[in-house]
Amino acid sequence: MSTLHLPPELSQELQAIYTAMATGYAHVAEVIGLTCDNCPDNCCDSYFLHYTYCEWAYLWQGLHELDPKKLEQIRMQARHYLAASQRDLAKNKRPQIMCPLNETGRCLLYSHRLMICRCHGVPATLTSPNGRRQRFPGCSRCQEIVLQRYAPAELAPAMDRTELYQRLVQVEQRFLGAARPLYPKIRLTIAEMIAQGPPQHRH
Ligand code: SF4
Ligand code: SF4
Repeated sequence: MSTLHLPPELSQELQAIYTAMATGYAHVAEVIGLTCDNCPDNCCDSYFLHYTYCEWAYLWQGLHELDPKKLEQIRMQARHYLAASQRDLAKNKRPQIMCPLNETGRCLLYSHRLMICRCHGVPATLTSPNGRRQRFPGCSRCQEIVLQRYAPAELAPAMDRTELYQRLVQVEQRFLGAARPLYPKIRLTIAEMIAQGPPQHRH
């Protein structure tokens, strides 16, 4: 097997999606009055799962740019994360363990972090292809602000993730191409994406 590399045009499209997401996020955060400044929480210990090979490959683009010693240290932390999260999951406990890419509160791969890392915080909506509409309330700090300022909470502005997710799906389709059926669906933490190494071709 060989490593799946994200072609430059798909890296650029992913960056464009991330930029659009940052703009949408900033707008909603400003209207609501949400900022991460001095927040007692650090969301990087949340148990988030990620679903796309293209973002996995893009994460590894960033990891490959790190100093090899740093990368080895991160991979070791990822393996510790995996062992600890498996212990928690075996006890039916949702893991709350710091992401191996977080160093003293800061993301070491900020420009390569994944979509879910970027959109967590503000309220959001998502309309599925079958027409089902979901609304996400945002992080704990956001929910406190919304509770004080909006009644009902659904009146608070929300970032619509639908178009961004559609664009992400298109990048994934172009990335895997006709071989897409050969790639099993993934539900991976960032620690798993690091510990497993970059995604591999399947023939
Ligand atoms: S996303 Fe919300 S909970 Fe997380 S650090 Fe920012 S303000 Fe705090
Ligand atoms: S990739 Fe970065 S932003 Fe995402 S959880 Fe890890 S440290 Fe936090």
